[in-house]
Amino acid sequence: MGTDIIAKLKQHGAVPGRVWLQDAVTYVDLLADTGRVANALADLGLAKGDRLLLQVEKCEAVLTIYLACLRLGVVFLPVNPGYTVPETAHFLTDASPALAVTDPARVAGLAALGARVMALPDLLALAGEQAASFADPSHGPDDLAAVLYTSGTTGRSKGVMLSRENLASNAETLVALWRFTAGDVLLHVLPVFHTHGLFVATNCVLWAGASMIFQRSFSPGQVLEALPRASVLMGVPTFYTRLLADPRLDRSATTHIRLFISGSAPLSPATHAEWRDRTGHAILERYGMTETNMITSNPYDGDRRAGTVGMPLPGVEVRVTAGDGTVLPQGEAGAIEVRGPNVFHGYWKLPEKTAEEFRNGWFITGDMGAFDPDGYLSILGRGKDLVITGGLNVYPAEVEAALDDLPGVAESAVIGVPHPDFGEAVVACVVGRIDPEAVRLALRDRLAAFKIPKRVLVLDALPRNAMGKVQKAELRKAHAGMFTG
Ligand code: AMP
Repeated sequence: MGTDIIAKLKQHGAVPGRVWLQDAVTYVDLLADTGRVANALADLGLAKGDRLLLQVEKCEAVLTIYLACLRLGVVFLPVNPGYTVPETAHFLTDASPALAVTDPARVAGLAALGARVMALPDLLALAGEQAASFADPSHGPDDLAAVLYTSGTTGRSKGVMLSRENLASNAETLVALWRFTAGDVLLHVLPVFHTHGLFVATNCVLWAGASMIFQRSFSPGQVLEALPRASVLMGVPTFYTRLLADPRLDRSATTHIRLFISGSAPLSPATHAEWRDRTGHAILERYGMTETNMITSNPYDGDRRAGTVGMPLPGVEVRVTAGDGTVLPQGEAGAIEVRGPNVFHGYWKLPEKTAEEFRNGWFITGDMGAFDPDGYLSILGRGKDLVITGGLNVYPAEVEAALDDLPGVAESAVIGVPHPDFGEAVVACVVGRIDPEAVRLALRDRLAAFKIPKRVLVLDALPRNAMGKVQKAELRKAHAGMFTG
């Protein structure tokens, strides 16, 4: 491995005055704070390879603890603070962390599950008594850095084992591609228990020695207030649609920003176009997942194509196959597979599941997609979301794009619902002011008959998780009996 994340921390930590968090923390402070937390964790008996579970509301200390774990070689295991105590039980039994750190209100609940628990303020108080200097043990590129659990909308959530090299190689690549420098100020409004806010955002900033405006949650008003002091915003598509709904968003509000990035869920071409009209900026869409870090990105220079996720990152190989490993000709839709230093080392304690999802060193992402003649990849949805109706494949993303183009449609999600004749029927869930029959008619000009939804449902909102991903399993469940009774 070339450089490790911690080597970068030490490099920037030697530059007096270099800012990590705007108005609050320099890299000199960060290096010292991570040293104190690493010493505190060592005092508590944690050692290389042990897991530390962290379940707290978003705060600056999450980043300090993450980096302290990297320094010590302790495996960092962040958990969504939105999970209830019973939901968190799975992570405790599965990963058997040596220590769980949580907000004071949750300590008793987690302790009742048999975990060794500490309240975040107590850990920080203990760290405050420690020396700032810490003698880092040596680490190898394949050493485990973190276990992140998948959001697990179907079945049990799986622990994704990420190595130091997985994180470092992706950070190095993205910093070069997206032109991060020490002069950048990233507006951080993403959650920090997920790969997007934790690794993509934080590691890019750290690698470049750049700084952040760190906000506890996303609110359009606060984002608009901070944009004039920031140079990069990373978001999920719902951030962009919510900002567009605010009349204060215009060109003057975004003149200081050099780059808007979107990922974690599909950004609709309509949102891409509206953003460009209102602000003059073309949002750069990229694609990745917890298991692989980032995989593709639209170009920094050159055409950022709406509805595509761009090209494979340098050093990352991407192919589209028939599902049996045969590579498909360009333009044909199939299973997206990935290989490279970004790809995880397997699912925690699930060697068989891991073996199922790899073929000859290629990770089968579970996403369907196709390359266009210029090498841009389009995501056509999760393989399990593919609708097979009357024996014909319908890719939800294609129908959703056609729906989103229609007047009155704010957003849409297309699902397959059991049907006595067709096996599955295409059903559209639409948010907006529309007449379902008029929508079906309008689609006739755009889509083959078998792709046109048999039913169009009008909903107040689509169910989404914290990363803005539409929860299609929930929609399928809610509407499962509509044709079969
Ligand atoms: P997660 O592991 O929670 O980050 O989820 C990864 C999944 O999010 C991928 O497998 C894709 O299905 C989806 N995803 C991420 N980025 C995009 C994107 N730009 N467009 C469409 N889907 C995306």
